[in-house]
Amino acid sequence: MNSLKRRLLDLIAQDGPLTIAQYMSFCLLDPEAGYYATRPALGGDGDFITAPETSQMFGELIGLWSAQSWLELGSPNPCQVIEFGPGRGALMIDLWRAGKALPAFRAAARLNLIEPSAPLRRVQGQRLAAVGARADWIDALERAPAGPAILIGNEFLDCLPVRQFLRTERGWRERVVGRDGEALVFGLAAGPAPIDLIPASLREAGAGAVAETRAGLSSFVRALAARLHAGPGRALFIDYGAAETTGGDTFQAVRAHRSADPLAEPGEADLTAHVDFAEIAALARGQGLVVAGPIGQGAFLTALGIALRAEALKKAQPEKAPVIARQLQRLIAPDQMGGLFQAICLSSPGLPPAAGFPP
Ligand code: SAH
Repeated sequence: MNSLKRRLLDLIAQDGPLTIAQYMSFCLLDPEAGYYATRPALGGDGDFITAPETSQMFGELIGLWSAQSWLELGSPNPCQVIEFGPGRGALMIDLWRAGKALPAFRAAARLNLIEPSAPLRRVQGQRLAAVGARADWIDALERAPAGPAILIGNEFLDCLPVRQFLRTERGWRERVVGRDGEALVFGLAAGPAPIDLIPASLREAGAGAVAETRAGLSSFVRALAARLHAGPGRALFIDYGAAETTGGDTFQAVRAHRSADPLAEPGEADLTAHVDFAEIAALARGQGLVVAGPIGQGAFLTALGIALRAEALKKAQPEKAPVIARQLQRLIAPDQMGGLFQAICLSSPGLPPAAGFPP
């Protein structure tokens, strides 16, 4: 049995079941055994592949989007470019390279990475240094230098912990992780769940319905709003999830590119749940931010000109044309990342409309 499982079984025996959110936090970020805390987990030989790991086109287009946003902010120097959960640094490397198109943007950009995982910080540092980019690592958004900012998070929100609730014949109950002998098992909390934790549109759903709420999302959006009201800026998030609050169990584990049992070996698999973009949009509007999207990743990348970029890359390397065509499809096709992922942009009031989104 792995050491985290032993610790969690003991903890549950002592203090009772864990919420799914508590379980996710242990599994992902425990300093000794957490999934992200102990390994650089993504990429071809890791457990899953993200959009920037799929093709350089993704980070390049976000680089051009960032340069455009910088112009719309009034070309401030310095301008903080802040990435949440940079993984292996692929997006930032491609963003940096694409920034060459606008040298004044590159000269003004100060790169800040928010990454709790020590092994990933090392990978990011090495890979950014190899392309001549300098970055600082910060613990939290509140620690980022003040002033105009462009914030980016790809597949970051989906690993923020969620709580899950099941509608039973006797009302809503929180789903928890308990123990049965030496196994971790799902169960339901004894008492009723506080109704204000259930998304309003799902409260009246029938028995069997499942609702998820991201415990830290409202404080995260509040922190973003404080930042974007203090100095002009935009935040772009791209993630797995639906544009509307749909309900349903989306808590999942992925290991070696396959779906896995989330309770079998805690800390050994990536745990995520879909992002509720309607919830983010509502929270952001409630904080006085301007919201663009959500729109499908495919529509967003297409509006930014990914087809032209793919053609240029194919011309430069004709032998790679079939690979580039496949990567393009993976990023934009409606039944692949193009439709399963959404992009949303939260901006300070008073800026021009964000590029890539319908006005
Ligand atoms: N953005 C990258 C990596 C996505 S994987 C890409 O698209 O390739 C998720 C990333 O979020 C990892 O870097 C992980 O370590 C980080 N992460 C996980 N929990 C986090 C948290 N609470 N705060 C900030 N980063 C977190």
